[in-house]
This record gives sequence, C-alpha cells and structure tokens, in this order.
Amino acid sequence: MITAHSAVATGPDLTAGSDRRYSSEMIIRARIVVTMHGAPIENGAVAVSGNRIVDIGTFDDVKARNAGNTVDLGEQALLPGLINAHCHLDYTCLRGKIAPQKSFTDWIRAINAKKSGLSPKDYVASINEGFEEAKKFGTTTIANLTAFPELIAQIQPAIRTCWFAELIDIRAPNRANELVDFAMESLRSALECADMSALSKRRHVAALQTQHSGLAPHALFTASKDVFHRCEEISKQQQILLTTHLAEAREEMEMFRDASGSLYEFMKGIGRSMDDCGNETPLGLFVGAPGGRALPHWIVAHLNELSETDFELLERSNSKFHVVHCPRSHNYFGHSPFAFDRLRSLGFNICLGTDSLASNESLSLFAEMRLFQKNFPQVSPEEIFRMVTVNPARALRQENALGQIQPGFVADLIAVPCSTSTDIFEQILAFDAPVSWTMVNGNM
Ligand SMILES: [Zn+2]
Repeated sequence: MITAHSAVATGPDLTAGSDRRYSSEMIIRARIVVTMHGAPIENGAVAVSGNRIVDIGTFDDVKARNAGNTVDLGEQALLPGLINAHCHLDYTCLRGKIAPQKSFTDWIRAINAKKSGLSPKDYVASINEGFEEAKKFGTTTIANLTAFPELIAQIQPAIRTCWFAELIDIRAPNRANELVDFAMESLRSALECADMSALSKRRHVAALQTQHSGLAPHALFTASKDVFHRCEEISKQQQILLTTHLAEAREEMEMFRDASGSLYEFMKGIGRSMDDCGNETPLGLFVGAPGGRALPHWIVAHLNELSETDFELLERSNSKFHVVHCPRSHNYFGHSPFAFDRLRSLGFNICLGTDSLASNESLSLFAEMRLFQKNFPQVSPEEIFRMVTVNPARALRQENALGQIQPGFVADLIAVPCSTSTDIFEQILAFDAPVSWTMVNGNM
C-alpha cells in the first residue's frame, strides 16, 4: 500500500466514562449533524483535534466534554465530505468540447483528437482546476485516474486523492510488464516526492497526496490480458487498489460477444489482436480470467451492458467487486439503463462518480445524486447519500477513516443549509450551489 500516513482510525476510547474530557482544538456546532451511523443529531457538534474527529454528540454534551473554540455553523447540516469514486481530472479542460456522438467509438475518436493537442502543462492545469471544482461542490476525496502519473509531483490537490495510474497498451503489445512497472514506479516516486515535501510548507498537500493509490488498466478493449494480470500481481503483493471500465457501452458488448460493430472495427484497424472476441461478454471475460480474478480488489466503473448470462455469472460468483455508476455521463452517452436493483440485490457495493468533464457538465456529486434519484425514485435519499459517502469509503478501503462522522475518522466535513420542514436527506440531495463551508484533513 502506498501510504506514508496510515489512515487507520485511532480514535479516543469512548468507553472510559461520560466525564472524560478530550483535547480538541475546535468544536463545530450545526443545527443537525448527519453522521451516517445512527440517526442524525439535532443541535449537534463535532470536536476536532488536528486532522481527526475526536468527539460527536449534542452541542451541550460535546461542549461539556471538550475545551476548544466553537465554530457555530448556524442553520446548516454538517455532513461527511463527499467521495467521488470515479473521475479523470486530466480532462477537466475538455468540458463542453465534445458534443454527444452517434456512437461510443466516435466519442473515443473525438477525445483522442482533443488529447493530441494537450501538453503536460495543460494536463497539470486541468487536474488542478478539477480539484478546485470538486472541492467547490463538497467533494473531499476523489478516486482520480490519470494517464500521467509522472505529473503527480507537480500537482497540488485541494482534496484527498486516491491516484490511479491508467494503463493502455494497445499500441505497445508484448510490453505489458514493462508498462505496468513503469507506471507503478512513476506513481511511487511521485507520491514519495510529495511525501518528502511534508517537511516543507507543503505539508498539508503531502498529507492529502499520500493516501491509498492504485492501478487502472483502462478497459478490456484497450489494456491486454497481460496488463490486467500484472496489475493483479502487484495488487496482491502491495495491497494497492485496482479499477477499470467494464461493460460501459453497447459497442463493447458487440465487440467481445459478437466480434462485430464499430468498436470492433476501430480496434482491429489500429492493430489490436481481436483473438478474445466472438465468444464471451465483457463481464464473462473479466470474471472468468484464467487463474481467476481477485474480485474484491476491483472497483469497476459502469457495468451498463449486462446480458442474462452475465447476471447468472454474478449470482454464482461468491466474491464481489465494487461498482461505480456515473449517472450524468451515462445520460450523455445514452447507455442502456443501469441495473441498480438487480446489482444491489446481488449484494454489490454501489458508488457514484462523475467520470470526466469530457462527458459531463460539472464535478458536482449533488447533481449526480439528483439524476440518480430521478432515474430511481424508489431508492431512499439516505441510501443515495450513502453512495457518495459510506459506500465509496469501503471501495477505497477507507471505511474506518472516511465517509462518516465518527471519533477517530479524519476531519473531512462539509456543511449545507437546512431547515426543519423536510427530510434531511431530501434537503441534502436538493442542494444545488457551491458548498460554502468545507474542512479537509482538519483544515478549513
Ligand atoms: Zn472513466
């Protein structure tokens, strides 16, 4: 695991008696505190020391147990910071630059054309701009795929970041190990470099950089079996996270299952070996990899195109991966309906993401929750809110540090206005503005 600062929760012992006092530096009071474990606390408060939450409860109780200055947020709800489970900040600068295309393959052609005009300097600016926007909309942790891990050392994340080095070897066949090892080394040295700067005034930035990170073979159609295999080997050895895009578009299904369609023709045309096409669905290939696949290691984005045989496969599978749904990007591409109910009933941990601004309008997870609610009105607002807090924390193996307001968890908090009139989770989903109060890693 690439982590210089362990994110394992080390909270105070709350069993020591109600008269125990904590050494907090700050007490944050709000009309309601939405902890995501147990009922929201009316007239609640959170005590923070350093980058950790040390106490929660009603304002009176927290004040009685803690010294420290009070920050009163007034008529607001205090929430755990939001977690974006799938994004590519590389392409923040492509917002509005690619109109929806007739086919997914045409979109790939269009983004490739745009990417060819971007320099490393453009990508650094694009990623930094994306961090600021994500933070503006209440995101305090982001799972960010980058095609340029070597640029990480030049970047100053405004929020907590799980970096994933994205891997595509379509134009470099037979160099899978070399490619993956180079990406891993780039990731490691960029993060170490950031960690070294913990000794300097960039301490805050470094603390956010050195979180759990991982590898991202882009997709079955762009990354070879060998790349996937090597990534899994490294993941097992070093406990890093893995993510990929799977069963995203109809053309991907056509390519693998039927050996036909525009994605098939495009990939064949650029020299990809098409030996793996004509038999299995994308999910069948992914789950049924030779030697088995360590499914719990994987965070799988999309999963829009699933056949009945795929569902049978998922039902038979004992282990589960994590799933990320990106509602607005899904809408932009016009993919088949996302099978939320079936995947949930099979026990998948489902999270929300924004994907990149090459297929979305903004990096607001509030907007993603609202579109999800429109598409799945039977799902409770609380469950939807879990998909940007508790669920992605689990996918990122940070369930003891992120996504809830609990003693021992990191102090990543946001506040949004609230009233007494309606359900608090309904109010959260309806919030449609920049977040005016944010704390990341104990810093306001
Ligand atoms: Zn993506």
